Amino acid sequence: MKIFNTLTRQKEDFKPIEPGKIRMYVCGPTVYNYIHLGNARSAIAFDTIRRYFEFKGYQVTYVSNFTDVDDRMIQEARREKITVPQLADRFITAFLKDTAALNIEPASLHPRATHEIDAIIAFIQVLIAKGAAYEADGDVYFRTRSFPNYGQLSGQNIEALENGASEHVDPVEQARKEDPLDFALWKARKRSDEIAWPSPWSLGRPGWHIECSVMSTKYLGDTIDIHGGGEDLEFPHHENEIAQSEAKTGKTFVHYWMHNGFVTVGPEAQKMSKSLHNFVTVHDLLKSVEPQTLRFFMASVQYRRPINYSLNNLKQATIILDRFQQAFQTAQFRLTKDGQSVVSPELKEMIDRTEKQFVSAMDDDFNVQNALSAIYDLLPVMNQHLTEKTVDLAQVKRFCQDLSSWLRVFGVTLKQETTALKENDDHVQKLLAARKKARQEKDWDRSDELREQLERLGVHVQDTPQGMRWTRD
Ligand SMILES: [Zn+2]
Repeated sequence: MKIFNTLTRQKEDFKPIEPGKIRMYVCGPTVYNYIHLGNARSAIAFDTIRRYFEFKGYQVTYVSNFTDVDDRMIQEARREKITVPQLADRFITAFLKDTAALNIEPASLHPRATHEIDAIIAFIQVLIAKGAAYEADGDVYFRTRSFPNYGQLSGQNIEALENGASEHVDPVEQARKEDPLDFALWKARKRSDEIAWPSPWSLGRPGWHIECSVMSTKYLGDTIDIHGGGEDLEFPHHENEIAQSEAKTGKTFVHYWMHNGFVTVGPEAQKMSKSLHNFVTVHDLLKSVEPQTLRFFMASVQYRRPINYSLNNLKQATIILDRFQQAFQTAQFRLTKDGQSVVSPELKEMIDRTEKQFVSAMDDDFNVQNALSAIYDLLPVMNQHLTEKTVDLAQVKRFCQDLSSWLRVFGVTLKQETTALKENDDHVQKLLAARKKARQEKDWDRSDELREQLERLGVHVQDTPQGMRWTRD
């Protein structure tokens, strides 16, 4: 299996630290608002990656944090006249609800920065003791130049960084730093009404970068297999995480760095930004878009590529998803009808080949497009086979199982044909039975009338050589 490692900028053979086990950390959202499509993209990309590892039999420990204190959290809480933890609780609940709707598995652990203050302080103390950090007027800064490999992940040299370092910086912070390249690990509070925790240096709060180093090493160990996040986190966030973690432990922090591409919006493929007012939140979107469709659409683009969110692209994904669903239900229907089974070596060979293609595409840095094309190409063959008088029931059964487990990797749960009707549907059951009887008696007018009645209830009836088949919206 090959994974593109941002650190080396090439696809590398994947070797986990411990055979059969994967430890991965993915940077989570700052919880001051509903998640937008960019957050959803990252969560979906890494959930799909995690699901594929699980499909391959790996045991995955997946940690993803909540940044529940920072300048934006403080400002937003102040604006709404609530506390920072109240704001965080509200949007963590919303995050869990939105991600559940998108069928994103909860992380093995979702640590929160403000619940880790003691661990963060202890981590910073080690950095100070090692000379990698220093206190200045209640703040603590990382001594960037003390870390020789700084700039390695984002492929930048220290001189180039130096030139850009003095832009957009708070003048108070700037005056406290030994060097413009240094970054904050601990920030003394600026106002007496600001949320703060006691520390050896000041009443204050942790910087953003340090929380991920602390939570990753605390819950997954000094060295982990995979660290993921959006490509906008590559610099400075992940660069700083490497510097902090490796300066503390003296060990490699992460073996494989993975970054997902961004999301553009609309037919002109604009990048989402505050100034364009085109931040689409999942909360709003799910009022009009079916969650499974959105999930499938976002999972069907390889994680490193940009996603263009538009109604047209969403529609394309809906069509493909419907075809998978229809083929699955047709196959399921055929399995409920006993009949003579014939062996079809051709069909077996085609499913064998699809299984191989799916795995080799996904093994190639999660090439989901190729994996989906392989499955898609199997559909006409299967659909053709399902119209035959006798079918290979063993292969049809295998197709249903394979299709379910392949699509589960994409976060799609295929609907079972027989679970579409609910228990309290006596009325529908009676109509179906009446229609069956009408057809046996060749009373076509009555049969058509019953079909219309069922249609009005959202039940679609179809007559096949194997008998009557129904589906429901
Ligand atoms: Zn992070």
